Amino acid sequence: MKLSLVVPCYNEEKNVRLFHDTAAAVFDNEGYDYEMVFVNDGSKDTTANELKKLHAESDKNIRIISFSRNFGKEAAMYAGIQHAKGDYVCLIDADLQQRPEIAAYMVKRLEENPKLDCVAAFQEERSESGTLSFFKSSFYKIINSVSQTKFTQGASDFRTFRRSMADAVLSLGEYHRFSKGLLSWVGFNTEYIPYKAEARATGESSWSFKKLFSYAVDGIMAFSTAPLSLPLVLGGLGGVISVIYLLVRIISSLFSLYDSFGRDSLILFLVMLFGSLQLICIGIIGKYLAKTYEQGKNRPIYIAREIIEPKGQKND
Ligand code: UDP
Ligand code: MG
Repeated sequence: MKLSLVVPCYNEEKNVRLFHDTAAAVFDNEGYDYEMVFVNDGSKDTTANELKKLHAESDKNIRIISFSRNFGKEAAMYAGIQHAKGDYVCLIDADLQQRPEIAAYMVKRLEENPKLDCVAAFQEERSESGTLSFFKSSFYKIINSVSQTKFTQGASDFRTFRRSMADAVLSLGEYHRFSKGLLSWVGFNTEYIPYKAEARATGESSWSFKKLFSYAVDGIMAFSTAPLSLPLVLGGLGGVISVIYLLVRIISSLFSLYDSFGRDSLILFLVMLFGSLQLICIGIIGKYLAKTYEQGKNRPIYIAREIIEPKGQKND
């Protein structure tokens, strides 16, 4: 098997067949062996049925992994890579925002250039709102300044890589997965190609601003422990400021310059300021502790309720 298309699906009932037909049209032309690995991530609509119908009716190699509930796109990609049999693995969305033609081009690049291990697409121009763009570019600035792993601005999960890289990604068994970081952390030679994300074929994006924000926080925490140094920095700064404040008070009282006006409010302000700074620091430590706790439980990244192998192949 040359290529595995790993397709995470969450509520994509109207898109899976469209994706199948579009991808088949592109890859049948290429004339090589390929499979589509659909991961149904606990969809609440009829995606599961649509996929089964597709499996029954299509003459392509279709593998379906159905989760027992929604585990998130990261878990879906992990499961898809785990079940992919191809020499090349391509991560591609079901909504056709990422054109299969580009995936075919990625495979071509890998074939032309044996030194390349991965071809990743990044968005040069974005069609989203200015505010979202601002937050996204701020995220890349922050994460690149606090993490040793390199994050390429606008890089998506849309990429094709060799089996060796797929195995490397699978060897990272962390529960809180952040693929943009994991795929960069494992190393290998990656070529970035620009692409323009199309409009969604049908349906809506399942990423709300809140979900994206918490995903960004997860990403920073997974690839940097810099926030844990914040208590040290703030504590040091607070310590210096309070010593200076004390000295100023002693000197002004020696020279009877002390003016009691506003003293109570000043003290209240300082108590509240340092109280909240301490809580923020404890909160940050708590967040990391929670991640460690969750990882410590060693729960599986996903649970499959059903796996359907391509026709003619035995079910696991
Ligand atoms: N997806 C998933 N699980 C989720 C959310 C999304 O498998 O919990 C899939 C979704 O079906 C799609 C891809 O991940 O194939 C990208 O999702 P979406 O289009 O909602 O995100 P966007 O393109 O807006 O970033
Ligand atoms: Mg999409």
